[in-house]
Amino acid sequence: MTAPLVQVRALGVHYPLGRTVLGRGAVLKALDNVSLDIPKGSFFGLVGESGSGKTTLGRAILKAAPISTGEIRFDDEEVSHDVARLRGRALKDYRKRAQLIFQDPYAALSPRMTVRDIIAEPLEVMGLTSSRMETDARVRDIARKCRLNLEHLRRYPHAFSGGQRQRISIARALVSTPSFVVADESVAALDVSIQADILNLLKSLQRDLDLTFLFISHDLSVVAHTCDQVAVMYLGQIVEQAPVADLFARPRHPYTRALLSAIPSLDPDAARTAQRLTGDIPSPADPPSGCRFHTRCPVARDRCKTEEPKMEDVSGGGTVACHFWKETLPA
Ligand code: SF4
Repeated sequence: MTAPLVQVRALGVHYPLGRTVLGRGAVLKALDNVSLDIPKGSFFGLVGESGSGKTTLGRAILKAAPISTGEIRFDDEEVSHDVARLRGRALKDYRKRAQLIFQDPYAALSPRMTVRDIIAEPLEVMGLTSSRMETDARVRDIARKCRLNLEHLRRYPHAFSGGQRQRISIARALVSTPSFVVADESVAALDVSIQADILNLLKSLQRDLDLTFLFISHDLSVVAHTCDQVAVMYLGQIVEQAPVADLFARPRHPYTRALLSAIPSLDPDAARTAQRLTGDIPSPADPPSGCRFHTRCPVARDRCKTEEPKMEDVSGGGTVACHFWKETLPA
């Protein structure tokens, strides 16, 4: 078993709401009791609907969201951190090692900066180089690795397509030589043909630069072709986690099965047995009692309304949180 680069334990990210229709002192629990290990060198997928807490978890690991309860540990060859306690110099060091690739390649790049300056900015802000010559050498190096044409470094972002802009965003995220990268819906805004190109680039960078990725996506078909392991989130909690092949072959949680049913398929049997999700995800400010999924679960029973399911280990190295996962597995 590969050692974890990131260990998340009983993590909570809570936002006080003050006085609301829910009463005084209401709290929005964007994440509630989340535990997860991200192995070194893995391409770890995090999936769920919009509002499930995926982005908040990625931001909390990067210390860009407030950590209210629990712990996040980060241990690579250079640094070992309790992320919640990071301040000052230690936080600056952590920013070099843990980076983010943004979702929207159109909004993420300043239109007034050249591509060279955009990629160089993290080096200059973090003081990682001692001369312009050294900065330029590192910019050219990462631009080549991200398959950017060096002629393009003098141009401005508006001259590029979405795929090229995302390569620029990736180069900017990797120029500080991080060991961990959060890719938050990084191909969602791109055409399908370009998505494959960017995913192939991320996979080759992972191998060549020894990176660990947290790949956040609402699209399970993208995760299936990219990730080694997957965690499924619903309303601020992880409900299932497994190696990717096992999760797709034997989804144990009813929510995972509903997400998989939403992937378009040409198989008429798949369409017939599909479990469609109905209704919207409830508010994390007022989550349902018991199992949070019970208001939308097609196989919910009375116990689900009052008792929160515990996470259990399952064969194949996965975990699932459902009272009735064994009884409700499709034949
Ligand atoms: Fe559905 Fe109950 Fe399992 Fe929750 S615990 S997923 S409501 S069957």
